[in-house]
Amino acid sequence: MPPLGGMAESVRRMKEKKVIDFHVHPFRESSYNLNLYPGTYEPDLEGMKKQLTEAGITHICGSVLRRERDSQSLQEGFEGLRKLNREALRLQEMLGDFYTPGFHVHPAYVRESCDEIAFMHDQGVCLMGELVHYMHGWGDFSEKNWAEILDVAEQYGMVCSYHTPFDYDMRRMIDAHPGMTFVAAHPGDRQRVAEHMELLKACPNLCLDLSGTGLHRFGMLKRLVEQAGADRLLFGTDYPISNPRMYVQAVYGEEIGEKEREMIFHGNAERILAL
Ligand SMILES: [Zn+2]
Repeated sequence: MPPLGGMAESVRRMKEKKVIDFHVHPFRESSYNLNLYPGTYEPDLEGMKKQLTEAGITHICGSVLRRERDSQSLQEGFEGLRKLNREALRLQEMLGDFYTPGFHVHPAYVRESCDEIAFMHDQGVCLMGELVHYMHGWGDFSEKNWAEILDVAEQYGMVCSYHTPFDYDMRRMIDAHPGMTFVAAHPGDRQRVAEHMELLKACPNLCLDLSGTGLHRFGMLKRLVEQAGADRLLFGTDYPISNPRMYVQAVYGEEIGEKEREMIFHGNAERILAL
């Protein structure tokens, strides 16, 4: 067979790669589709999977959320969150090996949250989050009930993925649970990246996923690899808010070692989630 040239060759290589997207909010109908421009992209479950796989993504992880942040999920109390969690399990049944579900807990519902952790553990789920404080009406991790929920999560071997509350210092919470891996979401812009870097240096059980704002700044990933280490970084997009193809290409576009790229694309997620 003649050698493939240029573009065709790079597309072929991309398709062979394992790319785990640690930060997705999967959906099978539009009320769960978080895309910020409703009506532009409204695929069904198969269409969602196609959009991701065509971008080069081979596996996704993350929690289910609703489009309207203060909709039913909040009015129904913990029951609303439980529904999102059951939807995540249902999607896993439908998507099989393609999806690792994440689930929600809430500091206003300590007993329910702890029960949910035990239930999810029984289902073989070990990813808590992405927890999104502004969508579910809690302030930040300073709320005292978090300590108890995180104690239980640590005992069950959970990984905690959280939307970074930049105005709150996560250090105390992370240090208090040295047996649990925390994954902060969204590098943010330069100042935020510097804050993440400080926390990554201080907390060996903390990682950062590359979803949301940040990767579009050329050099950010290279700097993170140099200063925090590739073993602390997880590939993520925040699909369907973000365009997955752009994020995959951004990681290819940075001058980092091939070994480092492999760790970011899949090795670290496999290690943390025992995939
Ligand atoms: Zn998210």
